[in-house]
Amino acid sequence: MNRLTVGSSAEKKLKRGIQLLGSKDFPNIKLNDQPVYLFSQAGSFLGTAYLSKQNKGVGWLVSTKKVALDQAYFAEVFQRAKRRRETLANSDVTTAYRLFNQDGDYFGGMTVDRYGQFVLFSWYNAFVYQLRDQITAAFRQIYPEFLGAYEKIRFKGPDYESAHLYGEEAPEHFIVTENGVSYSVFLNDGLMTGIFLDQRQVRNSLINGLVAGKRVLNLFSYTAAFSVAAAMGGALETTSVDLAKRSKELSLAHFQANHLDVAQHRLVVMDVFDYFKYAKRHQLTFDVLIIDPPSFARNKKATFSVMKDYHKLISQGLEILAENGLIIASINASNMTVAQFKKQIKKGFGKQKHAYLDLQQLPSDFAVNEKDESSNYLKVFTIKV
Ligand code: SAH
Repeated sequence: MNRLTVGSSAEKKLKRGIQLLGSKDFPNIKLNDQPVYLFSQAGSFLGTAYLSKQNKGVGWLVSTKKVALDQAYFAEVFQRAKRRRETLANSDVTTAYRLFNQDGDYFGGMTVDRYGQFVLFSWYNAFVYQLRDQITAAFRQIYPEFLGAYEKIRFKGPDYESAHLYGEEAPEHFIVTENGVSYSVFLNDGLMTGIFLDQRQVRNSLINGLVAGKRVLNLFSYTAAFSVAAAMGGALETTSVDLAKRSKELSLAHFQANHLDVAQHRLVVMDVFDYFKYAKRHQLTFDVLIIDPPSFARNKKATFSVMKDYHKLISQGLEILAENGLIIASINASNMTVAQFKKQIKKGFGKQKHAYLDLQQLPSDFAVNEKDESSNYLKVFTIKV
């Protein structure tokens, strides 16, 4: 195995429990897509890692011991992850959730999600991709119960982004349940699947009556999963707004899967900022706004980044929010801390009085590395205005 001596800043981070090898701490490394033993400048052993460039970072520490990344190793890693999720595995109301989450489960660069009787592997770099035969063999050893698997490619390299991986093929669209609510999903069409599993707790609070009797506006709605959860929780009506044309039929599929009457539920294909203007012009108001933008988006007119523009969503949203309204403000951004997010929200509220009721983060199946705040990317505030 190759050995790599790391600088003092990297050594400190590794000792603090950070597993991601940041590109700043590892400049000019010539090794790529292979495991290495890491040593400090004083010559002490720090751990087993692998090097492989990905969207964030250049590799991952995988153990503070000397380990071989073979099938037996992955079987052990999956077994440990399985034990942590026994409650979910025994649930009959939830059949879709995360089975393996990167550094939170002690192996960064890969996730595995369950969708009913099928699973979905996501590869974040070329190294895990190369190892996928061993990884999936280990996985099948620990989880013989699943019928088949798909994969998503989340790094530059292969000339495809989605494929069938092993076992039976799943139907093109099929139903999974989450806290008793049905969602229509698909595993082999681009990188998306029809639902973002990390928002389960937020959907659960909607199902449990947070917005009962209210008129809900769901912005950046994608397949309207929040609207469906709100409807199941007794919302009077919902309006879902998304720029993507395809979101409409996918949203309909979720509503139909729950036998909801779509007369109370509007699906609007429009830019969110255009919708604000439209709603003001037509004097529409809502009791609840759900705001869950992508961290970065570009449309014909402008670019939007949560880092600098989130406040505009709050300030413009306030203009169409009824008295005593509620805002559910979500971001999915590992580079933005809770404090930075609050600052954006505060800027959006200006002089308007508001109170934070709740902060929701990732559900426990999206295990995070407690030592690394950036692995805890989801932040969702419920705010009373
Ligand atoms: N809230 C959703 C996930 C949102 S994903 C859920 O819980 O399932 C982000 C969505 O924002 C995408 O569907 C994308 O089409 C949409 N989007 C991006 N920019 C937009 C804009 N300016 N106006 C409306 N929708 C936008």
